[in-house]
Amino acid sequence: MIQDIEPKIFYNTFAKKAIESQSKVILFFGRNVLIRQDKDNTLHLPAYGELSVENDAAVLEETKKYQYIFSIDNEEYFLKKSFGKEERFGTIEGYHWENISKLRQIESKEICFAVMNAFQLYIWYRDNYFCGRCGKKLIHSDTQRMLFCPECQNMVFPKVAPAVIVGVVHQDKILMSKYADREYKKYALLAGFVEFGETAEQTVQREVFEEVGLKVKHIKYYKSQPWGIDSNLLLGYFAELDGSGEITLDRQELAVAEWFDREKMPAHNDGISLTREMMGFFEEKEAFLKWYNQNI
Ligand SMILES: [Zn+2]
Repeated sequence: MIQDIEPKIFYNTFAKKAIESQSKVILFFGRNVLIRQDKDNTLHLPAYGELSVENDAAVLEETKKYQYIFSIDNEEYFLKKSFGKEERFGTIEGYHWENISKLRQIESKEICFAVMNAFQLYIWYRDNYFCGRCGKKLIHSDTQRMLFCPECQNMVFPKVAPAVIVGVVHQDKILMSKYADREYKKYALLAGFVEFGETAEQTVQREVFEEVGLKVKHIKYYKSQPWGIDSNLLLGYFAELDGSGEITLDRQELAVAEWFDREKMPAHNDGISLTREMMGFFEEKEAFLKWYNQNI
């Protein structure tokens, strides 16, 4: 999956660091990121030194506008503090603006992962410029990843929205669907946000019933995945059909939902998404059944 970047290590501990010429800069404009793609498909983010700044005084002023966000191994990543409004930047030779939802290159998984994580923070900083309680300007904490209000002491932490992905299985078949009106047009497993006051397992039951009218049992947790583009923490579950397999489609949400035989899956593990890894795991009949039938 996209977060599996071993042997590289992702360090998300909050720290105050000054930007240096070799530091990587992640610039967003809307849902686009400034990136370079080489002929071998590898992706590269600009180093701070590649951005042109005119004189020494300007450089010093400029460096104050960048915020350290995380590291991967020794590589430090910074965000431009264009908070409160969207800033249109120019481009650097060799780089272009790319829609973040298209960044799925397995060759540069750690860059895609870094961009997704940075986007989650970018959105959080951008959308929390003012205090939601009293309307005053929020201040960036120096000691933790938190924004606080000097007027009413409101504290605002990064948003992480839990959502479930569900592989509904019935003997040698698994249920797959396509969304009605989203950018992602390929087959996916059922998915939905965790609502207030419910457990993730209750979300699984509710979402499956709402989207396809089916009941499930033996709900078993598989793995999770951070998905920064939508500020999600995805929780993957497999569940077994309970009763009739006749689908009643929620046409507002889904364009199609079908049962697929393990031998005839329309999509496989792409090494990026939890959904696709779950499809790939279901394909491995022996390993899947051994895991699923344990402690159930
Ligand atoms: Zn306030």
